[in-house]
Amino acid sequence: MARLTDIKGIGEKRAELFAKLGVTNTEELLRYFPRGYEDRTKIISLADAPIGENICIRARAFSAVKETRIRRNMTIYSMIVTDDAGALNIIWYNNRFVKGAFRGGEEYIFYGAIHLNRGKRELVNPIYEAVGKEKFTGRIVPVYPLCEGLTQAAVRSAVEAVISESDRLREYIPSEIRARYGLCELNFALKNIHFPENSNNYEIARRRFVFEELFTLRLALMLKKGTNNVRERTPYKDTDYGEFIKSLPFKLTGSQERVIEEIAGDMSTACAMSRLVQGDVGSGKTAVAAAAIYMTVKNGYQAVMMAPTEILANQHFESFTKMFTPFGMRVVLLTSSAKGKKAVLSAIESGEADIIIGTHAVLQKNVNFARLALAVTDEQHRFGVAQRGMLIDKGENVNVLVMTATPIPRTLALILYGDLNVSALNELPPGRKTVKTYSVGEDMRKRIYAFLEKNIRSGMQGYVVCPLVSETEKSDLENAVNLSEKLKKIFPDFTVGLVHGKMKAADKNEVMSDFVSGKTDILVSTTVIEVGVNVPNSNIMIIENAERFGLSQLHQLRGRVGRGAEQAYCILLAHGNNEITKMRMQTMCASNDGFYIAEQDLKLRGPGDFFGTRQHGLPELKIANLFEDSDLLIMAQNAAEELIKSDSLLERAENAAIKERALGIISQNTVMN
Ligand code: ADP
Ligand code: MG
Repeated sequence: MARLTDIKGIGEKRAELFAKLGVTNTEELLRYFPRGYEDRTKIISLADAPIGENICIRARAFSAVKETRIRRNMTIYSMIVTDDAGALNIIWYNNRFVKGAFRGGEEYIFYGAIHLNRGKRELVNPIYEAVGKEKFTGRIVPVYPLCEGLTQAAVRSAVEAVISESDRLREYIPSEIRARYGLCELNFALKNIHFPENSNNYEIARRRFVFEELFTLRLALMLKKGTNNVRERTPYKDTDYGEFIKSLPFKLTGSQERVIEEIAGDMSTACAMSRLVQGDVGSGKTAVAAAAIYMTVKNGYQAVMMAPTEILANQHFESFTKMFTPFGMRVVLLTSSAKGKKAVLSAIESGEADIIIGTHAVLQKNVNFARLALAVTDEQHRFGVAQRGMLIDKGENVNVLVMTATPIPRTLALILYGDLNVSALNELPPGRKTVKTYSVGEDMRKRIYAFLEKNIRSGMQGYVVCPLVSETEKSDLENAVNLSEKLKKIFPDFTVGLVHGKMKAADKNEVMSDFVSGKTDILVSTTVIEVGVNVPNSNIMIIENAERFGLSQLHQLRGRVGRGAEQAYCILLAHGNNEITKMRMQTMCASNDGFYIAEQDLKLRGPGDFFGTRQHGLPELKIANLFEDSDLLIMAQNAAEELIKSDSLLERAENAAIKERALGIISQNTVMN
């Protein structure tokens, strides 16, 4: 592995620019993949040239380059070119380099797109090469992500210099696996991912790197979590949960019954449970977790349930205390602000506490469980891979139950969990009315407040959600602090509460308990109430700047209302009239189905910010696309499993190289570490 400055043409200055892109040596340069390609293999005659597509044309400079200054900071350079079939005007904006670049009568290759300007065809800002001196004409040319100061030409020539040396990198995918899955060799792949000889070779190269990326990531996760071992544990003797179910104030839905039955099945085997429960907001996941907890404690063990916010942990603590105290089971709360922490810690350690509810505070080193057998993570998508791993490590081969309302695409679930079993709660408790959702503009604000008032006068409560906590210079989005002041003035008869993430935990708890008890009529908040909060008496939610939220997030927020018997309403105050916003709001108004909404969100926003692997605590994928490459993902998953089965710690010589790469992922990724 050589330094970049060893490459001809790269000095210290340029090497610093490359470093900004994360490229500090030749191997990293080879792995700096193009973000796209220019196909310059076909030359099209002027007569056939289509509008709006990038194309190559070969033409003669007919006129000299004309310089026209149209205003400060804007100069247009133009030139007429001809071929046998016709003539074309070329223009460049603010590119003074083109001025002396052409000789009348000489031939050049231009690469760019033709646009119509008042009905006339114009080639805008093309790249060009003189005929006889072509470097890239006739080739598929890589386009790299850049940083300021670094040009495409600079990156291309650096990559080309390195790639033209023979046998640049050692292969690390074991040859047996390459043969079985039809993957090309590394150096061939490198050459063809940067400078594909043709589109077929490009596909072959890409396929290898997508596989490699997913395969290595999966191996890293398996090495890290040790999911290669069957996690043996003593089966629970008694998985009868009838008494507990009888004590609940409602009859379970069919889905809840089925999932609890699946869990009881897991727990009566000699292999620790790994189960993900996916269920839309309000589908009753808490009762499912409670049944699992009940079975665990009944068998003499401890159970822990981790929630992403204090508000939610408090709420679970309160309802579990009511549920389990009649059975003589002791519930404790552990959050960073909970009172009597010392006593709680010693109760957990002595085994006096049966059920521990908490935030990530339960992960701390000083939390030692006497006989932990079940770890539940609520709203798992809020936690990283490492945090879930830490919880599991609190006991020996504990049963793992993770719950989420955010649907995870099957492909991503496969990477994250491998062979995790998935249960779906696909039915809502009966009598639940769908939340009526409306998207409105600013002009409706008065009427909305009148509607809010009417609901509160009839004894209900309401939420008002804002994207920001307080005023910032940069943003004109609504903020919770301001709006709560405004609402106090508008509704002098009502009590207006305020809760947001920057408040002290104790203050947050007080505000929440005032809202739960009905003391507060209107709760102004940020998205801290997004997950899990359950106040059945609130039936109306107004969301400010709704266009700023993800659809899945809006759906989660909306899930805070419609938990009681009254008809519930969600009003989306959306600003801006662009088509995408309209379609997104329309989706919210038309559907109450979290899975459908997640899909639409993905379509309307693109995968970047939605199912982003980042959100799930994984490193960003450089080349694989979890949606388009799901077949390769399944192959990579199988290959990783087979490899680990045959060499569980990757100790064999032929697996040393891939192991090193997998460990590299772990050490580079703080979340996984
Ligand atoms: P989520 O799946 O979003 O976590 P919760 O577990 O908080 O949903 O349940 C939402 C509400 O529905 C709670 O008030 C809970 O008591 C109630 N609930 C759960 N299961 C049932 C059921 N089978 N019948 C009636 N109400 C139920
Ligand atoms: Mg919940």
